[in-house]
Amino acid sequence: MDKVCDLAIIGGGPAGLSAAIYAGRADLRTTVLEKMIVGGQVALTMDIANYPGFPEGVDGPTLSAKMKAQAERFGVEFLTAEATDISKNGKSFTITHKNGMIEAKAVIISTGSDPRKLGVPGEKELRGRGVSYCGTCDAPFFRERKVVVVGGGDSALKESLHIAKFASEITLVHRRDTFRGEKIYQRQVMSNERINIRWNTSVKSINGTDKLTSVTVENSDGEVEEIKADGIFIFVGTVPNTELICHLVPKNCGGHIDTDMDMMTAVEGLFAVGDVREHSYRQVATAVGEGATAAMAAGHYIENLE
Ligand code: NAP
Repeated sequence: MDKVCDLAIIGGGPAGLSAAIYAGRADLRTTVLEKMIVGGQVALTMDIANYPGFPEGVDGPTLSAKMKAQAERFGVEFLTAEATDISKNGKSFTITHKNGMIEAKAVIISTGSDPRKLGVPGEKELRGRGVSYCGTCDAPFFRERKVVVVGGGDSALKESLHIAKFASEITLVHRRDTFRGEKIYQRQVMSNERINIRWNTSVKSINGTDKLTSVTVENSDGEVEEIKADGIFIFVGTVPNTELICHLVPKNCGGHIDTDMDMMTAVEGLFAVGDVREHSYRQVATAVGEGATAAMAAGHYIENLE
Protein backbone atom coordinates (compact mmCIF):
# COMPACT_ATOMS: atom_id res chain seq x y z
CA MET A 1 0.00 0.00 0.00
CA ASP A 2 1.44 3.40 -0.99
CA LYS A 3 -0.50 5.38 1.55
CA VAL A 4 -2.60 4.65 4.63
CA CYS A 5 -4.96 7.35 5.88
CA ASP A 6 -8.14 7.80 7.89
CA LEU A 7 -10.22 9.43 5.18
CA ALA A 8 -9.88 9.48 1.41
CA ILE A 9 -11.87 12.09 -0.51
CA ILE A 10 -12.31 11.43 -4.20
CA GLY A 11 -12.94 14.63 -6.14
CA GLY A 12 -11.83 18.17 -5.32
CA GLY A 13 -14.93 20.28 -6.06
CA PRO A 14 -16.48 22.50 -3.36
CA ALA A 15 -18.10 19.52 -1.57
CA GLY A 16 -14.84 17.56 -1.44
CA LEU A 17 -12.80 20.60 -0.43
CA SER A 18 -15.21 21.49 2.36
CA ALA A 19 -15.06 17.89 3.61
CA ALA A 20 -11.26 18.13 3.48
CA ILE A 21 -11.22 21.32 5.59
CA TYR A 22 -13.47 19.78 8.25
CA ALA A 23 -11.60 16.45 8.27
CA GLY A 24 -8.18 18.10 8.47
CA ARG A 25 -9.30 20.36 11.28
CA ALA A 26 -10.61 17.28 13.14
CA ASP A 27 -7.11 15.75 12.90
CA LEU A 28 -8.14 12.97 10.52
CA ARG A 29 -5.27 11.94 8.26
CA THR A 30 -6.93 12.96 5.02
CA THR A 31 -5.99 12.55 1.35
CA VAL A 32 -7.85 14.21 -1.51
CA LEU A 33 -7.57 12.64 -4.95
CA GLU A 34 -8.35 14.95 -7.85
CA LYS A 35 -7.79 13.91 -11.45
CA MET A 36 -7.37 17.44 -12.81
CA ILE A 37 -7.54 20.78 -11.04
CA VAL A 38 -9.40 21.44 -7.81
CA GLY A 39 -12.78 23.15 -8.08
CA GLY A 40 -14.61 20.78 -10.44
CA GLN A 41 -17.37 22.51 -12.45
CA VAL A 42 -17.00 25.56 -10.20
CA ALA A 43 -13.47 26.14 -11.49
CA LEU A 44 -15.13 26.92 -14.84
CA THR A 45 -17.45 29.56 -13.35
CA MET A 46 -16.32 33.15 -13.45
CA ASP A 47 -19.04 34.68 -11.32
CA ILE A 48 -20.61 33.00 -8.30
CA ALA A 49 -23.11 35.58 -7.13
CA ASN A 50 -24.89 33.69 -4.35
CA TYR A 51 -22.12 32.18 -2.24
CA PRO A 52 -22.42 33.76 1.22
CA GLY A 53 -19.70 36.14 2.31
CA PHE A 54 -18.89 37.59 -1.12
CA PRO A 55 -21.29 40.50 -1.74
CA GLU A 56 -19.46 41.40 -4.96
CA GLY A 57 -19.44 37.76 -6.16
CA VAL A 58 -16.39 35.54 -6.45
CA ASP A 59 -14.86 33.58 -9.30
CA GLY A 60 -14.64 29.80 -9.12
CA PRO A 61 -10.85 29.42 -9.46
CA THR A 62 -10.23 31.92 -6.62
CA LEU A 63 -12.77 30.30 -4.30
CA SER A 64 -11.42 26.79 -5.02
CA ALA A 65 -7.80 27.83 -4.50
CA LYS A 66 -8.69 29.41 -1.14
CA MET A 67 -10.57 26.29 -0.03
CA LYS A 68 -7.62 24.11 -1.02
CA ALA A 69 -5.17 26.35 0.87
CA GLN A 70 -7.42 26.20 3.93
CA ALA A 71 -7.45 22.38 3.81
CA GLU A 72 -3.67 22.27 3.37
CA ARG A 73 -3.29 24.50 6.43
CA PHE A 74 -4.94 21.68 8.40
CA GLY A 75 -2.55 19.07 7.02
CA VAL A 76 -4.68 17.60 4.22
CA GLU A 77 -2.67 16.04 1.41
CA PHE A 78 -3.67 16.47 -2.24
CA LEU A 79 -2.80 13.93 -4.94
CA THR A 80 -3.32 14.62 -8.63
CA ALA A 81 -4.47 11.21 -9.81
CA GLU A 82 -7.59 9.59 -11.19
CA ALA A 83 -9.18 6.97 -8.94
CA THR A 84 -9.98 3.86 -10.96
CA ASP A 85 -11.42 1.52 -8.32
CA ILE A 86 -12.70 1.40 -4.74
CA SER A 87 -13.10 -1.84 -2.84
CA LYS A 88 -14.02 -2.61 0.76
CA ASN A 89 -12.01 -5.25 2.58
CA GLY A 90 -13.35 -5.89 6.05
CA LYS A 91 -13.36 -2.51 7.79
CA SER A 92 -11.12 -0.62 5.39
CA PHE A 93 -11.30 0.62 1.82
CA THR A 94 -8.69 0.32 -0.91
CA ILE A 95 -8.64 3.02 -3.54
CA THR A 96 -6.71 2.24 -6.68
CA HIS A 97 -5.55 5.22 -8.70
CA LYS A 98 -3.39 5.74 -11.75
CA ASN A 99 -0.18 6.03 -9.67
CA GLY A 100 -0.78 3.57 -6.82
CA MET A 101 -3.07 2.54 -3.98
CA ILE A 102 -4.47 4.14 -0.83
CA GLU A 103 -5.94 2.42 2.22
CA ALA A 104 -8.55 4.42 4.14
CA LYS A 105 -10.97 3.79 6.99
CA ALA A 106 -13.67 5.88 5.30
CA VAL A 107 -14.20 7.35 1.83
CA ILE A 108 -16.11 10.40 0.63
CA ILE A 109 -17.14 10.35 -3.04
CA SER A 110 -17.41 13.84 -4.48
CA THR A 111 -16.86 13.04 -8.13
CA GLY A 112 -19.40 15.56 -9.45
CA SER A 113 -20.95 15.31 -12.87
CA ASP A 114 -20.21 15.82 -16.56
CA PRO A 115 -22.28 17.72 -19.15
CA ARG A 116 -25.12 15.69 -20.67
CA LYS A 117 -24.88 15.32 -24.46
CA LEU A 118 -27.75 16.04 -26.85
CA GLY A 119 -26.98 12.95 -28.90
CA VAL A 120 -27.74 14.58 -32.27
CA PRO A 121 -25.81 14.12 -35.54
CA GLY A 122 -22.73 16.35 -35.72
CA GLU A 123 -22.39 16.89 -31.95
CA LYS A 124 -19.54 14.44 -31.45
CA GLU A 125 -17.85 15.15 -34.78
CA LEU A 126 -17.76 18.95 -34.28
CA ARG A 127 -16.82 19.00 -30.59
CA GLY A 128 -14.04 21.58 -30.22
CA ARG A 129 -14.80 22.85 -33.72
CA GLY A 130 -17.89 24.83 -32.78
CA VAL A 131 -19.55 22.52 -30.22
CA SER A 132 -18.85 23.50 -26.61
CA TYR A 133 -20.15 22.65 -23.12
CA CYS A 134 -18.37 25.53 -21.34
CA GLY A 135 -19.18 29.18 -21.89
CA THR A 136 -16.53 30.43 -19.52
CA CYS A 137 -13.86 28.46 -21.39
CA ASP A 138 -14.93 29.08 -24.99
CA ALA A 139 -17.07 32.24 -25.25
CA PRO A 140 -14.05 34.47 -26.13
CA PHE A 141 -13.56 32.39 -29.32
CA PHE A 142 -16.95 33.62 -30.52
CA ARG A 143 -16.39 37.38 -30.30
CA GLU A 144 -18.79 39.12 -32.72
CA ARG A 145 -19.98 35.71 -34.02
CA LYS A 146 -23.42 34.07 -34.01
CA VAL A 147 -24.03 31.17 -31.66
CA VAL A 148 -26.83 28.87 -30.54
CA VAL A 149 -27.30 28.00 -26.86
CA VAL A 150 -29.42 24.98 -25.84
CA GLY A 151 -31.23 24.47 -22.52
CA GLY A 152 -33.53 26.22 -20.08
CA GLY A 153 -31.89 25.66 -16.68
CA ASP A 154 -29.56 27.86 -14.63
CA SER A 155 -26.53 26.82 -16.66
CA ALA A 156 -28.08 27.74 -20.02
CA LEU A 157 -29.37 31.09 -18.75
CA LYS A 158 -26.30 32.10 -16.79
CA GLU A 159 -23.91 31.02 -19.53
CA SER A 160 -26.01 32.80 -22.19
CA LEU A 161 -25.54 36.03 -20.26
CA HIS A 162 -21.80 35.44 -20.17
CA ILE A 163 -21.57 34.45 -23.86
CA ALA A 164 -23.59 37.57 -24.78
CA LYS A 165 -20.61 39.66 -23.66
CA PHE A 166 -18.72 38.23 -26.66
CA ALA A 167 -21.09 36.89 -29.33
CA SER A 168 -22.98 39.32 -31.57
CA GLU A 169 -26.15 37.21 -31.56
CA ILE A 170 -27.39 34.26 -29.50
CA THR A 171 -30.30 32.03 -30.40
CA LEU A 172 -31.39 30.33 -27.20
CA VAL A 173 -33.21 27.11 -28.03
CA HIS A 174 -35.39 25.54 -25.34
CA ARG A 175 -37.63 22.50 -25.68
CA ARG A 176 -40.48 23.91 -23.54
CA ASP A 177 -42.22 27.28 -23.20
CA THR A 178 -40.91 28.09 -19.73
CA PHE A 179 -37.43 28.15 -18.27
CA ARG A 180 -36.55 26.23 -15.12
CA GLY A 181 -33.59 28.49 -14.22
CA GLU A 182 -33.71 31.17 -11.52
CA LYS A 183 -36.13 34.08 -12.10
CA ILE A 184 -33.34 36.65 -11.90
CA TYR A 185 -31.50 34.97 -14.79
CA GLN A 186 -34.77 34.63 -16.74
CA ARG A 187 -35.38 38.38 -16.47
CA GLN A 188 -31.83 39.21 -17.51
CA VAL A 189 -31.92 36.81 -20.49
CA MET A 190 -35.30 38.07 -21.71
CA SER A 191 -34.17 41.68 -21.59
CA ASN A 192 -30.83 41.07 -23.29
CA GLU A 193 -30.95 42.45 -26.85
CA ARG A 194 -28.40 39.95 -28.12
CA ILE A 195 -30.45 36.91 -27.04
CA ASN A 196 -33.36 35.61 -29.17
CA ILE A 197 -35.38 32.80 -27.65
CA ARG A 198 -36.87 29.90 -29.62
CA TRP A 199 -39.45 28.23 -27.34
CA ASN A 200 -40.74 24.68 -27.85
CA THR A 201 -37.83 23.95 -30.13
CA SER A 202 -35.33 21.08 -30.29
CA VAL A 203 -32.00 20.66 -32.03
CA LYS A 204 -32.11 18.07 -34.82
CA SER A 205 -28.55 18.27 -36.16
CA ILE A 206 -25.35 20.25 -35.92
CA ASN A 207 -23.93 20.88 -39.36
CA GLY A 208 -20.53 21.54 -40.92
CA THR A 209 -17.57 19.60 -42.21
CA ASP A 210 -14.35 21.07 -40.76
CA LYS A 211 -16.17 23.53 -38.53
CA LEU A 212 -19.72 24.24 -37.47
CA THR A 213 -21.70 26.33 -39.95
CA SER A 214 -25.35 25.87 -38.91
CA VAL A 215 -27.75 24.20 -36.52
CA THR A 216 -31.01 22.60 -37.65
CA VAL A 217 -33.91 22.96 -35.21
CA GLU A 218 -37.55 21.94 -35.23
CA ASN A 219 -40.39 23.46 -33.23
CA SER A 220 -43.44 21.73 -31.78
CA ASP A 221 -45.49 22.63 -34.91
CA GLY A 222 -43.03 20.60 -36.98
CA GLU A 223 -41.42 23.67 -38.58
CA VAL A 224 -37.77 23.04 -39.40
CA GLU A 225 -35.25 25.88 -39.51
CA GLU A 226 -31.54 26.00 -40.30
CA ILE A 227 -29.88 28.62 -38.10
CA LYS A 228 -26.56 29.91 -39.47
CA ALA A 229 -24.08 29.92 -36.61
CA ASP A 230 -20.40 29.58 -35.78
CA GLY A 231 -20.91 27.74 -32.53
CA ILE A 232 -23.31 25.91 -30.26
CA PHE A 233 -23.15 25.80 -26.46
CA ILE A 234 -25.03 22.86 -24.95
CA PHE A 235 -26.33 23.07 -21.35
CA VAL A 236 -28.93 20.32 -21.05
CA GLY A 237 -28.10 19.08 -17.58
CA THR A 238 -25.45 16.84 -16.18
CA VAL A 239 -24.71 13.14 -15.73
CA PRO A 240 -23.31 12.09 -12.33
CA ASN A 241 -19.92 10.37 -12.30
CA THR A 242 -20.79 7.14 -10.51
CA GLU A 243 -18.65 4.53 -12.34
CA LEU A 244 -16.44 4.11 -9.27
CA ILE A 245 -19.24 2.92 -7.01
CA CYS A 246 -21.01 0.65 -9.50
CA HIS A 247 -19.92 -2.61 -7.88
CA LEU A 248 -20.27 -1.27 -4.31
CA VAL A 249 -23.71 0.32 -4.74
CA PRO A 250 -25.09 -1.27 -7.95
CA LYS A 251 -28.51 0.28 -7.40
CA ASN A 252 -27.08 3.78 -7.93
CA CYS A 253 -24.84 2.93 -10.87
CA GLY A 254 -25.41 5.52 -13.61
CA GLY A 255 -27.74 7.63 -11.43
CA HIS A 256 -27.32 9.88 -8.42
CA ILE A 257 -26.13 8.20 -5.22
CA ASP A 258 -28.62 7.75 -2.36
CA THR A 259 -27.42 8.70 1.11
CA ASP A 260 -28.85 9.11 4.58
CA MET A 261 -28.87 12.48 6.35
CA ASP A 262 -25.21 11.98 7.32
CA MET A 263 -24.35 11.57 3.61
CA MET A 264 -23.58 7.87 4.16
CA THR A 265 -24.39 5.56 1.22
CA ALA A 266 -25.74 2.01 1.50
CA VAL A 267 -22.15 0.93 2.25
CA GLU A 268 -20.94 1.65 5.82
CA GLY A 269 -18.06 4.14 5.78
CA LEU A 270 -18.70 5.25 2.19
CA PHE A 271 -20.14 8.76 1.90
CA ALA A 272 -21.31 10.78 -1.13
CA VAL A 273 -21.58 14.57 -1.43
CA GLY A 274 -22.26 17.30 -3.98
CA ASP A 275 -23.51 16.93 -7.55
CA VAL A 276 -23.12 13.15 -7.54
CA ARG A 277 -25.58 12.77 -4.63
CA GLU A 278 -29.33 12.26 -4.97
CA HIS A 279 -31.37 15.23 -3.65
CA SER A 280 -28.41 17.60 -3.81
CA TYR A 281 -29.47 21.14 -4.76
CA ARG A 282 -26.25 21.44 -6.82
CA GLN A 283 -25.24 24.82 -5.45
CA VAL A 284 -21.83 25.71 -4.08
CA ALA A 285 -23.40 26.68 -0.75
CA THR A 286 -25.25 23.38 -0.37
CA ALA A 287 -22.24 21.37 -1.60
CA VAL A 288 -20.00 22.76 1.14
CA GLY A 289 -22.67 21.95 3.73
CA GLU A 290 -22.86 18.38 2.48
CA GLY A 291 -19.06 18.12 2.57
CA ALA A 292 -18.90 19.38 6.16
CA THR A 293 -21.67 16.99 7.23
CA ALA A 294 -19.97 13.99 5.62
CA ALA A 295 -16.58 14.81 7.16
CA MET A 296 -18.08 15.07 10.65
CA ALA A 297 -20.08 11.86 10.17
CA ALA A 298 -16.98 10.09 8.80
CA GLY A 299 -15.10 11.20 11.93
CA HIS A 300 -17.76 9.61 14.18
CA TYR A 301 -17.78 6.48 12.02
CA ILE A 302 -13.98 6.11 12.32
CA GLU A 303 -14.08 6.75 16.07
CA ASN A 304 -16.64 3.96 16.49
CA LEU A 305 -14.48 1.56 14.47
CA GLU A 306 -11.63 1.92 16.95
P1 NAP B 1 -30.91 21.46 -15.32
O1 NAP B 1 -31.37 22.36 -14.24
O2 NAP B 1 -31.17 20.00 -15.21
O3 NAP B 1 -31.52 22.00 -16.68
C1 NAP B 1 -31.31 21.32 -17.87
C2 NAP B 1 -32.09 22.01 -18.97
O4 NAP B 1 -31.85 21.32 -20.20
C3 NAP B 1 -33.60 21.99 -18.74
O5 NAP B 1 -34.16 23.21 -19.13
C4 NAP B 1 -34.08 20.84 -19.63
O6 NAP B 1 -35.35 21.06 -20.19
C5 NAP B 1 -33.08 20.87 -20.75
N1 NAP B 1 -32.83 19.55 -21.32
C6 NAP B 1 -32.55 18.40 -20.66
N2 NAP B 1 -32.35 17.38 -21.55
C7 NAP B 1 -32.55 17.92 -22.77
C8 NAP B 1 -32.49 17.40 -24.09
N3 NAP B 1 -32.19 16.12 -24.30
N4 NAP B 1 -32.75 18.23 -25.11
C9 NAP B 1 -33.04 19.53 -24.90
N5 NAP B 1 -33.10 20.09 -23.67
C10 NAP B 1 -32.86 19.29 -22.63
O7 NAP B 1 -29.30 21.56 -15.55
P2 NAP B 1 -28.31 22.78 -15.32
O8 NAP B 1 -28.85 24.03 -15.86
O9 NAP B 1 -26.98 22.30 -15.81
O10 NAP B 1 -28.23 22.91 -13.75
C11 NAP B 1 -27.82 21.77 -12.98
C12 NAP B 1 -27.93 22.13 -11.50
O11 NAP B 1 -26.93 23.10 -11.17
C13 NAP B 1 -29.27 22.73 -11.13
O12 NAP B 1 -29.62 22.29 -9.85
C14 NAP B 1 -28.99 24.23 -11.11
O13 NAP B 1 -29.84 24.94 -10.23
C15 NAP B 1 -27.54 24.26 -10.64
N6 NAP B 1 -26.87 25.46 -11.16
C16 NAP B 1 -26.99 26.60 -10.45
C17 NAP B 1 -26.41 27.78 -10.93
C18 NAP B 1 -26.54 29.05 -10.17
O14 NAP B 1 -26.02 30.07 -10.58
N7 NAP B 1 -27.24 29.06 -9.04
C19 NAP B 1 -25.72 27.78 -12.12
C20 NAP B 1 -25.63 26.58 -12.84
C21 NAP B 1 -26.23 25.43 -12.36
P3 NAP B 1 -36.69 20.99 -19.28
O15 NAP B 1 -36.71 22.29 -18.52
O16 NAP B 1 -37.75 20.85 -20.29
O17 NAP B 1 -36.52 19.79 -18.40
